[in-house]
Amino acid sequence: MRIALRILGLVAALLIIAAVAVIAVTFLGRQSITDGFETNGVHIVKDGIVSVAVVAVAQGEVALIDAGNDKSGQAILAELSRRQLGPDAVTAILLTHGHPDHTGAIAMFPKAQVMALEAEVALVEGRTAARGPLPRLFPARPTGVNVTPLQDGVTVTVGETQIGVFAVPGHTAGSAAYLVNGVLLLGDAADTASDGEVKGAPWIFSDSQAEDRASLVGLDQRLLRDGVDVTAIVFAHSGVLTKGLAPLDAFAQKNQSR
Ligand SMILES: [Zn+2]
Repeated sequence: MRIALRILGLVAALLIIAAVAVIAVTFLGRQSITDGFETNGVHIVKDGIVSVAVVAVAQGEVALIDAGNDKSGQAILAELSRRQLGPDAVTAILLTHGHPDHTGAIAMFPKAQVMALEAEVALVEGRTAARGPLPRLFPARPTGVNVTPLQDGVTVTVGETQIGVFAVPGHTAGSAAYLVNGVLLLGDAADTASDGEVKGAPWIFSDSQAEDRASLVGLDQRLLRDGVDVTAIVFAHSGVLTKGLAPLDAFAQKNQSR
């Protein structure tokens, strides 16, 4: 009996060590979020572990790319009040995906139309659970959010600003990248290492790493083919790269033959 307990304890300890190691490998070596970075009307707000982009879309009107982790939306509201705006100035929230650290403060902005790719709507509305190794441990719960579905390849006009929508499935089924004024926001589809190398989505939080990598390669090819002028790439859990599309090109070259 005592030996059995010891073995059980040892197995539990090994499992905990393995889990800590996986999480450490996931987070170490990432470039940190660049709070306050701003270019072409896109302003990055750090909300704890994740970033939100506040986009000036017209006079006195903003859109958000994602809604952060903090349900009270403190960091977003602080940025709005710096602009002498209140929550009602947010007329659109475009979600990169439905994980809860990207949808936290949606309820703080009742005037906003919430948008996500069609394949992500059920996850955002809480009608289905996420499928990654860690997210799947948390059951689906209705969120009370009503989502307007978007299609891959469309351009959404918010205020006077056009936002390009690109499907990049893999991290989740309906993960989206957005292109605003030359700024490419990749959500959790990718990260940047501290040396500026683009990395695919981390295994432990993602539906399929292979699909994610293929999506990023495909996105790079689409943007190159269309001659899109990208000035900056924004990652939700890491920094901003300002070397045009080159970092994504390098990722694509490394991964397209896999
Ligand atoms: Zn995520």
